[in-house]
Amino acid sequence: MTVLEKGNITIHTENIFPIIKKSLYTDHEIFLRELISNAVDAISKLKMASLAGEVSGEIAEPEIVIAVDKSNKTLSISDNGIGMTTDEIKKYINQVAFSSAEEFIQKYQKDANELIGHFGLGFYSAFMVAKQVEIDTLSYKEGSQAVHWSCDGSPEFELTESSRTQVGTTITLTLMDEEEEYLEPQRIRQLVKTYSDFIPVPIKFENESINKQKALWKESAQNLTDEDYLEFYRYLHPFQEEPLLWVHLNTDYPYLLNGILYFPKLRPDVDVSQGHIKLFCNQVFVNDHCEEIIPDFLMPLRGVIDSPDIPLNVSRSALTNHRTVRSIANHIAKKIADRLNSIYTETPEEYIKCWQDVGTFVKYGSLKDEKFKKQVEDILIYKTTYKAEETAPQIATETPEIQVEAEGDVWQDVEKENTENQGKFNYEKAGYTTLPDYLERNKERHENRVFYCTDTQTQATYVELYKNQGIEILFMDSFIDTNYFIPFLEKEYSEVKFSRVDSELDNTLLQEDKSNEIVDPTTNKTRSEQIKELFEIALNKPQVNIKTEALKSDTPQNTPAAMVLLPEAMRRFREMMAMSQQQIMDFPEEHVLVINTTHPLIENIYQLSQGSIIQAGGDSPSAEMAKMLCQHVYDLALMAQKGLDAEGMKSFVERSNQVLTRLTK
Ligand code: ADP
Ligand code: MG
Repeated sequence: MTVLEKGNITIHTENIFPIIKKSLYTDHEIFLRELISNAVDAISKLKMASLAGEVSGEIAEPEIVIAVDKSNKTLSISDNGIGMTTDEIKKYINQVAFSSAEEFIQKYQKDANELIGHFGLGFYSAFMVAKQVEIDTLSYKEGSQAVHWSCDGSPEFELTESSRTQVGTTITLTLMDEEEEYLEPQRIRQLVKTYSDFIPVPIKFENESINKQKALWKESAQNLTDEDYLEFYRYLHPFQEEPLLWVHLNTDYPYLLNGILYFPKLRPDVDVSQGHIKLFCNQVFVNDHCEEIIPDFLMPLRGVIDSPDIPLNVSRSALTNHRTVRSIANHIAKKIADRLNSIYTETPEEYIKCWQDVGTFVKYGSLKDEKFKKQVEDILIYKTTYKAEETAPQIATETPEIQVEAEGDVWQDVEKENTENQGKFNYEKAGYTTLPDYLERNKERHENRVFYCTDTQTQATYVELYKNQGIEILFMDSFIDTNYFIPFLEKEYSEVKFSRVDSELDNTLLQEDKSNEIVDPTTNKTRSEQIKELFEIALNKPQVNIKTEALKSDTPQNTPAAMVLLPEAMRRFREMMAMSQQQIMDFPEEHVLVINTTHPLIENIYQLSQGSIIQAGGDSPSAEMAKMLCQHVYDLALMAQKGLDAEGMKSFVERSNQVLTRLTK
């Protein structure tokens, strides 16, 4: 073999190799990604040359072949790409690759591990794992001499003629002793799957193709079916529930951006700070934490984004402030909002179906991002007790003469109005409303007041009460609603106040006039005052604020006899405290107990107590019974709020048995 040249690679940093080897990357494994990427580049270059008519004859089916030789401790990556001439090796390997490696190291020596993509070192990253690197290559150019380059990890290289006859390049690494893991077939497969799975060239290893190749996000959305998207999701995130919906990103100006983002079903224990989106650069995997690129509130999304315009050689902190990155983040948020808007108008059923989960993103996004809020504020919906009547579409009932007069445009307008109403109807028929619609509908009865329910089970009594009086209630039952979104809405709609159904009893629920209540001549107290006193003595709980009210109802026996209320401000304060201290909240000892004076049970207890005082003084059996019944009424009200603790439950059961025993005597 003729030695073509021996020489020194001109570099200015004396000892580039120790740096590459030791300190540059903790992730030595990325060398394979870099070499495969170079192979793909070489293959696309050959394709381009062929398209330009520079290649005589057919070019072979592109492929990349990886081979390991355990006995010689070598790993080789071969491609049938463009190859290199002697001059090209001198230029691209000795000068370009080396100088870019040197520049890279000088710039990032200290914080290379901080770099987002670890890109930039390219070919020379092979020296992180190899004690010797060889290139065997033949250029596609007519009459080229095949060449062999080798470098043993010092700045010296050797260039000889090669007997290679196939156009393309083989890079052979003789691995360092401590890097022998890269001789393990499992390790190679895993690395290819992680980094190079979507490279559009088959990567062959042990006689089979081991990468998926097809990058769905690079395809045009028009050619893809729902099943394609779902299948891809299952591939990316195996063993997960199906996603709710997805957004296909496809932009080429002012930056290149492709991707598919999926909305997963949210689990209650979702960690929103952890990203699940895979970042790619030209189909090559970079990493799977995109915290700096994806707007914060979209972190629970899944899928991939791919952009060669995201700078990978900058530190994470620099990335967040990078102009392109910021604009990409805005673009993604906008696309998501667009998609949600179109689902809202085009397929309301779908929208409602996924709202429980998607709503959380939307609300969180509205809190976090002013721009996003504007894009989604019209499609924020709430489940409501209101149901639109099944009214027939308004068909014009004019006489035939008038219909004839109403020509062209006029009719069109009527039609349009009808379909617009129809669109609105869908949501209200399905039991959903927007906040502005709610406020508008209830302006007369309770202007700027929103009644809401956070737990259909414990607040059932209250919801029923409001519903029976024809008052509309919104269901705001997700974690984000109670802790963040309601306070946010109160800021947004500064006039509007939100009250949970169990926080107070609205005047509309009560019989107003109490002034004409009969006063008992002996005690000089009204009946209500006596009932209140009775309960105060019976319960003996100074922290419970006892009130009497007469609840409106045609069937008083169906209203609750008593209710426990938690005033809005106090409850919110407690919730906040509990959240900041990460505690589970006990039921507050301080609360309001409303006794419904119209309920027959209260009347009966009252009568019982009255009779007992007159007949036999305070401690008569009926007085005792009245006391027990008061406690019982209170316990039942507490129970409806899930407010009974273990001790309370125990005494409730004991008392129940006593009361029943007496009743059956
Ligand atoms: P980059 O890929 O960013 O250009 P690299 O350090 O990875 O930087 O590679 C340097 C150069 O070496 C490439 O630009 C290319 O010209 C050449 N090269 C590397 N690998 C191959 C290959 N397999 N086939 C042809 N040329 C290659
Ligand atoms: Mg490269």
